[in-house]
Amino acid sequence: MATRRGLLIILSSPSGAGKSTLAKRLRAWDPSIVFSVSATTRDPRPGEVDGRDYRFLSEHDFKATVADGGMLEHAHVFGNFYGSPKAPVREAIDAGQDVLFDIDWQGAQQIRNSDLGAHTLSIFLLPPSIPELHRRLVQRGQDAPEVIAKRMQKSWDEISHWDGYDYVLVNEDLDQTEERLKSIVTAARLRRSQQPGLTDHVRMLQSQFEGGFE
Ligand code: GDP
Ligand code: ADP
Repeated sequence: MATRRGLLIILSSPSGAGKSTLAKRLRAWDPSIVFSVSATTRDPRPGEVDGRDYRFLSEHDFKATVADGGMLEHAHVFGNFYGSPKAPVREAIDAGQDVLFDIDWQGAQQIRNSDLGAHTLSIFLLPPSIPELHRRLVQRGQDAPEVIAKRMQKSWDEISHWDGYDYVLVNEDLDQTEERLKSIVTAARLRRSQQPGLTDHVRMLQSQFEGGFE
């Protein structure tokens, strides 16, 4: 079978549209997908584990990592710094594993413009409506009302970049969105550029072809 190259799967959306939920479902479907654990200077939410959900860093350590060239991309979001550490991504991609990113539009743009740009698959999630987005943030029960208000204020900034993505999913019915997401990933894995081993396979077919059909 042809070997394949790892994909950089980027999920973006306004806060509360369902990125984390869908990222979890995608990894439950295929546990070989590596989640890019972002570094952040924001405080952990209840239940979040350092090194699993985020790498929680001081602003000093975050800036030092950026200065050392240790971030594939980074951005300032909701008053905090966020970034994707480079080393684990390179390692996974070189080993032929896909890497999943839950990052904002600024990070998506930086990865698309990086030398790994050709191997990215970017997906934007839209909420069915703005009241539903608000309802989801409230019902998630993890942010204080003023934090929710800030996230809602910023939602348009994120939504306005929807047209820079390869695929856009309106996350209304969660199961349907999950199925569509899995289809997109399956198709992207079959892109010619993701299957470097095809050259050998076609060469083998050619030699069989030239050797006759029986
Ligand atoms: P959430 O929106 O409820 O997931 O709240 P978070 O505080 O976890 O994330 C806030 C925003 O930062 C979201 O839009 C994330 O996609 C984005 N984000 C998280 N990690 C990164 C990262 O490593 N890089 C960039 N550029 N954005 C990130
Ligand atoms: P994000 O990571 O984009 O901030 P979450 O994945 O945390 O968003 O989702 C926000 C809330 O909305 C969570 O409580 C989640 O269970 C819920 N949610 C996600 N997708 C749907 C959906 N299609 N229908 C209803 N609720 C959803």
